[in-house]
Amino acid sequence: MENNKIKIAVLGAGISGLATAHWLNKDERYDVTVFEKNDEPGGSMVTININDYLIDFGPNSGLETTPLIREIAEDVGLGEEMIYANDVANKRYILRDNKLQELPTGPGAFLKSSLFSLKGKLRLMCEIFIPRSVEGVDESVYDFVKRRLGEEFADYAIDPFVSGVYAGNPHELCVKSAFPKVYDLEQKYGGLIKGMFLGAKERKQRKEKSKNYAKMFSFKNGMQSFPKAIASQLGDRVKYGYTIDKISLADSGYRVHHMKNREIGQDTFDLVVSTIPGYDIPEVMGDLDENLNDNFQKLPYPKVKVLFVVFRKDQIKQPLDGFGFLIPSKEKKRFLGAIWTSTIFTNRAPEDYASFTLFTGGSRNTFDEKFTDEERQRLVLAEFKEVMGIEGPFVYLKEKTWDKAIPQYILGYPEQESSFKYFEEMNKGVLLSGNYRGGISVGDCVKYSKTVKERVDRLIEDKYIPRTNKLSESEI
Ligand SMILES: Cc1cc2nc3c(=O)[nH]c(=O)nc-3n(C[C@H](O)[C@H](O)[C@H](O)COP(=O)(O)OP(=O)(O)OC[C@H]3O[C@@H](n4cnc5c(N)ncnc54)[C@H](O)[C@@H]3O)c2cc1C
Repeated sequence: MENNKIKIAVLGAGISGLATAHWLNKDERYDVTVFEKNDEPGGSMVTININDYLIDFGPNSGLETTPLIREIAEDVGLGEEMIYANDVANKRYILRDNKLQELPTGPGAFLKSSLFSLKGKLRLMCEIFIPRSVEGVDESVYDFVKRRLGEEFADYAIDPFVSGVYAGNPHELCVKSAFPKVYDLEQKYGGLIKGMFLGAKERKQRKEKSKNYAKMFSFKNGMQSFPKAIASQLGDRVKYGYTIDKISLADSGYRVHHMKNREIGQDTFDLVVSTIPGYDIPEVMGDLDENLNDNFQKLPYPKVKVLFVVFRKDQIKQPLDGFGFLIPSKEKKRFLGAIWTSTIFTNRAPEDYASFTLFTGGSRNTFDEKFTDEERQRLVLAEFKEVMGIEGPFVYLKEKTWDKAIPQYILGYPEQESSFKYFEEMNKGVLLSGNYRGGISVGDCVKYSKTVKERVDRLIEDKYIPRTNKLSESEI
């Protein structure tokens, strides 16, 4: 321990790693180093600025579900740049029968809505009479919602919602892990409607906001400004271009093996917090536990293509009065939905232009490999233009492919989570974090980063002894 400080390596400079490093760095007991394989911070948060268009290829916004987001933004001097979505963004559409239908947000609007049939509405209202499931049963998101709220709600609200959040398939995701708060409402209060009312009081006490009421935020210069500002405050504690190959045991603590420009190096730390994606873990942590391999290989990260496109406003018939729209699987389109980017945050495109972000791929809308990128884009844009009533060619288009976009908390995830905990128990001082634990949203990653900091504190306060490569007396 240099200068009597506890040396901590944080692997990965996405929002999970940087937020964790931020909390640790504020505590003078710790000496933090962040290793990032790319040349810039952000991971999945990528913003570029071209021709006056601000393009977010990762998250376009976040929900302010925790005061920790603003706390970090203020700490790193970004408080003034935090912006909130225009009010119109509260309106969201779902495509049904090839028409955009407004998603109702309250009981009155729900009763009047043309998105659901009368039968579907009556079935949803029966939710209060549906008993809770047996605790511990691994149920898919789709089955859970169909059982509680009916098939129509599962098909036309939850199926598109799951693709909007996870680019996922509701038949594959585990409700307990992918939507733990929804699952808990049933377990704790016996139902979702009852739980929504009773749970609101408890959230107020915890100063947390339900995702339904949390404000949608971004930053003046896009989402990547957030990790960039955190990294800039950490200064040379963040090491760019360092790919971590392996973690191994040292005489005391853990050895972090890295490679930069083909140069191999290693440093020893008292603790390691990993926030690299799950699919990289088996290789990096394999020396500590070969069984990790099996558990992480079960975590799918589907491919997603993000298509940013601009039209002149006078080309578009559909009023731009909302967040955008999501597409249920039953509508059989080639894309998952579209965000009306420049409508949500005003400074995203010049005055007379409208920018949109379309998502294709994910778990349920996999790519037809017979098409080239250009052919696929043409087909997707034809469908989008028909829905939006757009005439004429686009003004600007740019696409980014995420080969492994978002971890899917699929059925069986609770056992995987137990194995992550077991690994941490066996390798005291190595903590597994990142968006495959604690939630995938930016808000969830920030919340989990604080949990990780508290876990580090507890280890230190309990005077933990790291695993060592020295043989114990019983092993000699
Ligand atoms: C297309 C897309 C749209 C999204 N939309 C939203 C949204 O609208 N709202 C929302 O809240 N969330 C959204 N998300 C999810 C959210 O952005 C991510 O879950 C979150 O940013 C993940 O942060 P992270 O730090 O856990 O992981 P990452 O961002 O993946 O960061 C991990 C970091 O580790 C680095 N790394 C990997 N391997 C190594 C190694 N061996 N050595 C060193 N470094 C390594 C990577 O380069 C990366 O920088 C979206 C995600 C995607 C991909």
